[in-house]
Amino acid sequence: MRLAEVRQRITAARERGGRNQDVTIIAVTKTHGVEAPRSALDAGIGDLGENKVQEALGKMHELERAARWHLIGHLQRNKVRQLDPFHLVHSMDSVRLADALHAYGVARDRPVDVLMQVNVAGESSKGGIDPRDVAAEAARLRSMDGVRVRGVMTMAPFDVGQEVLRPVFGGAREALERVREAGHPADELSMGMSGDYEVAVEEGATLVRLGTVLFGTRGG
Ligand SMILES: *Cc1c(COP(=O)(O)O)cnc(C)c1O
Repeated sequence: MRLAEVRQRITAARERGGRNQDVTIIAVTKTHGVEAPRSALDAGIGDLGENKVQEALGKMHELERAARWHLIGHLQRNKVRQLDPFHLVHSMDSVRLADALHAYGVARDRPVDVLMQVNVAGESSKGGIDPRDVAAEAARLRSMDGVRVRGVMTMAPFDVGQEVLRPVFGGAREALERVREAGHPADELSMGMSGDYEVAVEEGATLVRLGTVLFGTRGG
């Protein structure tokens, strides 16, 4: 794992950005076997990310070690009842999913910690709430105590330059401001993947979701 280099790059990006935020690496282990989360934990990374509920549950079971598991991929509403072992859901990407998460949090008598996924870039291939709707949705969520909105997540377009990335990440930062203005105790900005995490950290990311740069390219 190229963790030492990644950590150095994050530290340097944080200094360039001058925002002084704490940055947590989430090791994204999707498609890899249980050796990937194991090596991440051995290297001192305590936060693991998966796209799919089922794949994550399988690895949790095999791993038999404590970790904070993050769900980062699109979630179907009929899977919300399986979220109990997860630390944070990054992909609350629609009003209907928010309703389902709230209902589940109320039913289990403990709120679900979530990030509001915002589609800053406006790509139709990606999910997320329209930036223009964030303030209204954040206001609506204030009365829904089955979820606790901890911040905002976004995905930038792939293979684009800084001139495209910066406004996308900056837009996510603004969305977080709207969420905070609505009264949520939200301070997490989940943005940055292997190809763009340095720019994301410069722009204020507190959670970076890294797969390829830690574990190599995924097969398939
Ligand atoms: C797969 C994935 C990542 C990690 O991607 P890499 O480019 O391999 O670092 C991060 N976030 C989400 C939502 C993903 O699906």
